[in-house]
This record gives sequence, C-alpha cells and structure tokens, in this order.
Amino acid sequence: MTEKTNAALWTRRESAVARGVSSVYQRFPKTASNAEITDIEGNRFIDFATGIAVCNTGHSDPRIVGAVKEQLDQFSHVSFQVTPYESYIALAEKLNEIAPGPSPKKTLFVTTGSEAVENAVKIARAYTGRRGVVAFRGGYHGRTLLTMGLTGKVNPYKAHFGPMPTEIYHAQFPFEYHGIDTDTAYESLMQLFQVDIEPSATAAIIIEPILGEGGFYVAPPAFLKKLRDFCDENGILLIADEIQTGFARTGKMFAIEHSEIEPDLMTVAKAMAGGFPISGVIGKSEIMDAPGPGGLGGTYGGSPLGCIAGLEVLKIIENDNLCERANAIGELIKSRLVSARDNGTDCIGDVRGLGAMVAAEFIQHGDPSQPDSEIAKQIVAETAKDGLILLSCGVRGNVIRFLPALTASEEIIREGLDILTQVINRLKATKTSSSSRQHQAAE
Ligand code: PMP
Repeated sequence: MTEKTNAALWTRRESAVARGVSSVYQRFPKTASNAEITDIEGNRFIDFATGIAVCNTGHSDPRIVGAVKEQLDQFSHVSFQVTPYESYIALAEKLNEIAPGPSPKKTLFVTTGSEAVENAVKIARAYTGRRGVVAFRGGYHGRTLLTMGLTGKVNPYKAHFGPMPTEIYHAQFPFEYHGIDTDTAYESLMQLFQVDIEPSATAAIIIEPILGEGGFYVAPPAFLKKLRDFCDENGILLIADEIQTGFARTGKMFAIEHSEIEPDLMTVAKAMAGGFPISGVIGKSEIMDAPGPGGLGGTYGGSPLGCIAGLEVLKIIENDNLCERANAIGELIKSRLVSARDNGTDCIGDVRGLGAMVAAEFIQHGDPSQPDSEIAKQIVAETAKDGLILLSCGVRGNVIRFLPALTASEEIIREGLDILTQVINRLKATKTSSSSRQHQAAE
C-alpha cells in the first residue's frame, strides 16, 4: 500500500486533479469532530473555516450522523421527481414557516448553492416575464455559467471563461469602510438603470446581505430597505442570497432579518444540512409557482440524506440556542481583534460582521486604501503550522474571515485566537527586524 502522508497524498492530488480546483491547505483530514479536525498524520487543528460556512452545527454532530445513518438503512436515493418522500416536504414546511416575512411561502430543493441561485433567476424570469438581473460588484454567487456571470469578481472566477451570460448588470455594493455609503451605492444603482437597462425589463436584483467571498462587508439595513422599496415600485423581485449567511451564522436564522425586510426569493445551501449537499430556493408562493411542472428540479435535488440532515440542523439550532451562541462567539472574536489593533497591531484595519460571521481587513500603515494581502496570506499559512485553520476572502484578498462552528466551546475559540495573535506578533516581529536590516544595509 502507498504511504499515507500529507505530502504523499498531495503529490497524488497534483497529478490526478485538475489544477483549477484549489485547496488552501496541504492537509488531509482523517476525522473531524465539532470544532476540531485531525489529519492523517495525527495533527490536530482548530477549525475556523467549517468547510466554508457549512458546519455551523459542528463536524459530525451525533444527532445528524444518527439521523442520516437511519435514512441510509431505509433508502439513499429514489429521486423526488420519481417517488416523493416525506422528509423533503417536512423540510420545505419548516423553511416556509421560518423564512422571514408574512407572505405564504413555498420551497424547491436542489443540490449546490450555485444551482439554487440559477433556479432563483429562472423563477424570477418566469414570474416577471423579464430578462435582466442586477447583481453587485464584489458579490459571489457561484462558478456555473450563469452564476459566474452574476459573481462580481473577474479573477479567478471569470477570466478565460467567456462569453459571459447576457442581461446581467453590476451595481456598486455599499462598502462603507471604503467610503461608499448607502446613498452613493444607491445612486450607482439608479445610474445603472439609466445607462444599462430599464427597470421594466429587470426581473430581479440579487444581493448577499453580507458579502461572503467578497470580504464580509455588511449591507446596511437602510440600503436593503431602499432596494426593497425600489423593487416594489418597479415590479422587480428582490433575491437575498443567504447561502453563506444563513442558519444562525449572523445571530439570526437569516441575515436579511437584521434589516426587517421580506425578500421575494431567498437562496439557501451550505449550513442548512451541516455538510450534506442540499440547497434550496424559498420564496413567496405565487412567485415560486410561476414555472410550470417539469421546469424545475434535477435528479439529486433534495436528496433524502440532505433533507433528513436539514431537519436535524433546524432542531439543533433551536435546542442549542445557536443564534445566541453566534453572537457570543462573534463578540469574543471581535473583541480580541479590536484589542490587538488598539494595542498597536496596525495591520488590522476594519473588524466587522454580524454574529459569528466576523472578518478583519488587513492594511498597511493603518491606511484602508493600502490593502495588505501578503500578510493575510502569511497568516493563513502560518496559523495552520500552529494548528488553526483559517480562510481569507475579499475583493483584494486582504480579509481574514472567522467562521467557527456555533457549537464550539469558548475555550476552543480562545485557543484559536491565541494561535492567531501569536502568529500576527511573530510576523510583525520578523517584518520589523527585516525592515531594520534593510534600513541598515541602505545606510
Ligand atoms: N452564493 C454565495 C453567497 C456563496 O457564498 C456561495 C459559495 N461560497 C455560492 C453562492 C455558491 O455555492 P456552491 O459553492 O455550493 O455552488
């Protein structure tokens, strides 16, 4: 048998897997439990990435694993489009009940986040009979052809993959930290409707209430309310992409609840089933019913394993008070980052987010207009050596995001933050000593 080491597997990965699929770490997990991962060489990691905001309920929660095992013993796949099953209906009923706003709702399940977004656009076009879709610069909605078009970042998502799908337009997102407030962003949207497409030809505006891949910038409630009003006045549907923000991550079940508006359609995925691939579109019933029978779906859409896991996730969020936990965890992380900054770590700029969807933006010389993607990259690489898994994000790659399990203990979060602050101090010290060496050499 071939030797199972991280290095050996990485070599096999490089020759067998297309390089377009990247992996942040050259570590291969053997087991994962709640907020920790152990790799095949026995190294332990605290996980602040949760498989990109998926395991909000922790890795391998016995309640989810137990329910899925029970389902596996019954059947794993029959296709809802051939012979439907109760768990799909039960999960749809629950989501319809908890989705924000008073209008009656219906739900459709598919498999990935991108697929949910694609379907939301199809439903919006079918309902309105219009073609245009407005998304935001810096937003992320997926890598499939349509969602790549919606995603507001060229590299690495769009370059070389054209032609882009048509009738997609990008407006300015309110990046408050970079001086783009609600009024400026809204003005850019109004200009878009003068320059690119008329409102009466626009089917939908799609927005992440907090940009995920784009850098955890929070859309101010005032901006979302303006969007809601504009959509109502012009017969445009408002789609909230809650794929990264949903399921208690931001201290509420869905991030859009912070702004108290009701979206027409909402896309969900990731944390809804704690690691089992399922996604969905939840929306106002009359809109969801616009496409005719057979127009929506897919062979694996709403897999029984995903539906059963999703039902368990909803119970866990409620029973374990995960919205409250998200707020407590977020406060812990934010306060540590802010105190590091107040104590002279001037590479930390903005510290932001809602609940446990927290990020720190790294800058040079305390200047927000000078992004420091290099230090963000080094932090992600170095913390792993000390046992902490982190992810970066952001249009400029200079943001570190914190997405721990909402079931993580306070001790684990503190332990992870200790590793992070030690790494930042170490990097700062190296930078200072190398710049003073350069200084001396120049003298
Ligand atoms: N929308 C948002 C907001 C996301 O964060 C993501 C994934 N990062 C997607 C859509 C696409 O989801 P998937 O990778 O499951 O296709």
